[in-house]
Amino acid sequence: MVKKPLYCTVIMTKKWNDNCKLNACGFQLDYSYLDLPTAFYTKINPSKVKLPTMVILNDQVANSLGLNFSHMTLKEQAKLFSGNVIPAGVEPFAQAYAGHQFGYFTKLGDGRAHMLGEQLLADGSRMDIQFKGSGRTPYSRQGDGRATLGPMLREYIISEALYALNIPTTRSLAVITTGEDVIRETLLPGAILTRIAQSHIRVGTFEFAAANRDENLLTRLLTYTTNRHFPELKSEKNVGLAFLEKVMNLQVDLMVHWMRVGFIHGVMNTDNMAISGQTIDYGPCAFMDTYNPATVFSSIDHAGRYCFGNQPNIAQWNLARLAEALLPLLDTDQSKAIEIAQDTIGSFKVLYQTKWLEMMRLKLGMLDSKPGDEQLINNLLEWMKVNQTDYTNTFRELSQLDKPVGKLYDRNDFNVWYKSWQDRLAESKHDKKSALRVMKQHNPAIIPRNHNVEAALNAAVEGDLNGFQNLLDVLKTPYQDADHLKPYQSPPKPSDQVYQTFCGT
Ligand code: AMP
Ligand code: MG
Repeated sequence: MVKKPLYCTVIMTKKWNDNCKLNACGFQLDYSYLDLPTAFYTKINPSKVKLPTMVILNDQVANSLGLNFSHMTLKEQAKLFSGNVIPAGVEPFAQAYAGHQFGYFTKLGDGRAHMLGEQLLADGSRMDIQFKGSGRTPYSRQGDGRATLGPMLREYIISEALYALNIPTTRSLAVITTGEDVIRETLLPGAILTRIAQSHIRVGTFEFAAANRDENLLTRLLTYTTNRHFPELKSEKNVGLAFLEKVMNLQVDLMVHWMRVGFIHGVMNTDNMAISGQTIDYGPCAFMDTYNPATVFSSIDHAGRYCFGNQPNIAQWNLARLAEALLPLLDTDQSKAIEIAQDTIGSFKVLYQTKWLEMMRLKLGMLDSKPGDEQLINNLLEWMKVNQTDYTNTFRELSQLDKPVGKLYDRNDFNVWYKSWQDRLAESKHDKKSALRVMKQHNPAIIPRNHNVEAALNAAVEGDLNGFQNLLDVLKTPYQDADHLKPYQSPPKPSDQVYQTFCGT
């Protein structure tokens, strides 16, 4: 059901003017999700806000959606991105889902988000457009339905950084402030983020369907999700199994990407794992400076469940929850279904290890494979951990033609490792130039370091967006060396170190 834009032929009124301008934005919204049983959603409008004000609009993302807002004033844009005016034909809704949060099952749903619809793109694909922080819904539980400026700008900048790093992710279209205070530990400025995603279907959406113990819900969701994301699987003999394997492959790829750049998601609950394989729901996420697999920033992750090194294990654990939810669709014989699920999830580790090794080889310029590679890689990681070196800078410094300089690099233990690595590269049939080129494509020169992000967000919340804009700009080309990146490449001084990040819900 494609909503056709309404053309304005009526007498000039304020509403007429709004609608004409909104129609000229290029919205082509569809609502295929609403063909699912009504248990999966609630139609509900965003709550109006007092004084919507534009903070940032992402023209590049708008462009990619076939949208353009340049004919609108900032005030008109803010009315749109706050939900205070809804374009004609738009039917906002909130999605139902469940999830395992820190290991415990809960019924959830969009407690502070509203879907505007699925924007149809020229290539036939569709992209969800969703507000976050836009008011209460039937799924809000005790929450106020609101979001605050700092965390929404954090999601904006980190998701854009992941995009530039070539990592699958939702993206950010706009942030507005609401003109209303939000009560957290202190009063904070309210904000709404508009984000786009291939879909917002999560592992938790399948858990929701399974928890309802209505096989029809599960079947409908599987058919819908397969049609939307993986139409090539429709002809498979066991679609449920093919689907599970596909989602597992996408998650393995995503984990390998996160581990490549030192990204720590922070809240890998099953409701925050997208079936599409995109990184979603940026809360207390952060990039690791000093290499240590135990690194954890989230203030609520006391046991380190979601620490850097545990992310692949958690992905596997979350996929096991997906497999459990899918059981009735894997085989009509329950014990056979369990066997299929266990075999599939059991293959995660080998798959992950193989792809991780492939990725780490590229980080070290090893364009072919040799038996001792894993040991060589692990020796470097161990040296980095013991000597507390910076994850990003160490790999980027190794990506230069000459041996890196510095006190640590002069040490005997490093020299021993460096020689074994150089010998290994010399054994390869690929030349050093190609190796260095590949290394530079896999080892970023710049990441959004926590202390820089925090400084930019603190200033932005005080009304100064310059630091935020500068950081956003340098993060756009993370694999290119340039002098102006320098201020953002240094690890934090002890006094600037950020030890904890917050969900900010
Ligand atoms: P998150 O930790 O952001 O993934 O959110 C987990 C769940 O809590 C989701 O169902 C959210 O919609 C809900 N939630 C988070 N913050 C709020 C809030 N301020 N008001 C209502 N629901 C919220
Ligand atoms: Mg979430």
